[in-house]
Amino acid sequence: MPSERANQIQLSPTMRIAARALAMKAQGIDVVDFSVGEPDFPTPEKIKKAAKQALDANFTKYTANDGIPELRQAICRKLERENGLRFSPDEVLVSPGAKAALFCVVMALVDEGDDVIIPSPCWVSYPDQVRLAKGNPVFVRTREEDGFHLRARDLAEAITPNTRVLILNYPCNPTGAVYTREELEEIGEICRREGIWVIADEIYEKLIYDGRRFTSIAAAVPALAKQTVIINGFSKAFSMTGWRLGYAAGPREIIAAASKIQSHNTSNATSFVQKAGVVALEECELEVERMRVEFERRRNLVIQGLSRIPGLSCPVPEGAFYAMPNVSRFLDKEFSGSPVRNTYGLAYYLLKEAKLAVVPGDAFMAPEHIRISFATSEERIREGLKRLSDALAKLE
Ligand code: PLP
Repeated sequence: MPSERANQIQLSPTMRIAARALAMKAQGIDVVDFSVGEPDFPTPEKIKKAAKQALDANFTKYTANDGIPELRQAICRKLERENGLRFSPDEVLVSPGAKAALFCVVMALVDEGDDVIIPSPCWVSYPDQVRLAKGNPVFVRTREEDGFHLRARDLAEAITPNTRVLILNYPCNPTGAVYTREELEEIGEICRREGIWVIADEIYEKLIYDGRRFTSIAAAVPALAKQTVIINGFSKAFSMTGWRLGYAAGPREIIAAASKIQSHNTSNATSFVQKAGVVALEECELEVERMRVEFERRRNLVIQGLSRIPGLSCPVPEGAFYAMPNVSRFLDKEFSGSPVRNTYGLAYYLLKEAKLAVVPGDAFMAPEHIRISFATSEERIREGLKRLSDALAKLE
């Protein structure tokens, strides 16, 4: 029998759907995949070149557990230049992916019985990482009519003496919500006053639309910096999902504790990937902006297409690369006598009947929505929307 701890969590549902779609593709079936959370662009050439150079220079050994000094310094420069936040290299932990950095930080901050507030719908790994740390995820629902923004009042009401951390992710996966400075000031002030830590997952920071500006919560409320840990990574902005590179930045004591945890788990992020990370942060602004512009175009295409499908409504995502159409009108329907019942049923139906992979909203605590990733080509987006429209029309 696996441990009680392992039994408490689930294999990431997004990975399950993606695996099923992949298996179908391997059988030669033409699946349109709207399930994956990764950009379809190649990693920028400069980044690849830097990794190749590091390999050729035999930079292939263990590095310092918390990352090479060059990269930690580059991260400090990035945080100051782009976010107006000052860190020293010993306040930065480089990890093999943002998910790994988050895991070490959650383990470093959360004790058994601690409550961790997570605005929902939320990314699937937050609650399970909290459970692995023996903490309790406390979900605070955000509403479609608010663009899935957390209301400060709802946050204040959810706080108890056991509340230790708020995990705030924006641009949000799956809702695309992006907070304004004013909203962050309100939320941040509550956390500061109540002595609650904030884990700010900023991995989609660069993918933000309609001329919005990204503000880090620690910049909006400077007094909150001493109880905030920023999580960020290279996967989404630089199209580097497979490289596995991310980081955490926060108060020295917590970063040192997270580093200790990392030292007994993954150890350092891959040596030559770290070298490439420096180039990504310092030389790829144009490439990132080009991808952002393309994502914005695709978002507009998806929103336009979804608005033409009878029975669907879809809030406009403000950032990231996901749309979350409301499918509640289809959940009491049937296909050939089989009821759809919930978003898992609908996702399964779409995969089987339309060869279209989407993620059921239930996986993100969004029981009336499905998540569509628009990190795919315009041609596939058009084809996928057509399949979605045809398949939904067949439900009775
Ligand atoms: N945070 C959020 C909100 C994500 O959506 C993801 C990936 O899907 C991650 C973190 C993890 O990213 P990484 O590939 O750096 O582990």
